[in-house]
Amino acid sequence: MSKQRIPNELRDQLAALSKNRCEYCLSPEAFSTQPFEIDHILALSLGGLSEIPNLAYCCRGCNSHKFNKNKALDEISGLIVPIFNPREQSWQEHFAWDNDPCYMIGLTSTGRSTIDALNLNRPKLIELRGLLLDIHKHPPEI
Ligand SMILES: [Zn+2]
Repeated sequence: MSKQRIPNELRDQLAALSKNRCEYCLSPEAFSTQPFEIDHILALSLGGLSEIPNLAYCCRGCNSHKFNKNKALDEISGLIVPIFNPREQSWQEHFAWDNDPCYMIGLTSTGRSTIDALNLNRPKLIELRGLLLDIHKHPPEI
């Protein structure tokens, strides 16, 4: 997370790359009450750059939970592992929707640690996914 100003051109590129969805929880920006933010995948404070390969488009909730983390505990393996990098990794490799598609599940240690670190099944997201499901806008096309 950073307060450094990201040029509009970069922001627009990231919005297009993400299809205007949060790159972590996949929520559509159109249904957010807050403008989306730009996450530094490797935080500025850890030497990350404000360039596309290190930036992700995300909702305020995910950005707040991520803060400056780039690793987190996978409770199943007990290992500290890198959290999901939307520029280098594919969402489907690390995550899936549960049988109840309001819930995200982790398929890998990275997926599980990211769900925990960013709280990707927080109550307001579950509620939003339920509403989007009702209007056939969830699960999103990957
Ligand atoms: Zn999000």
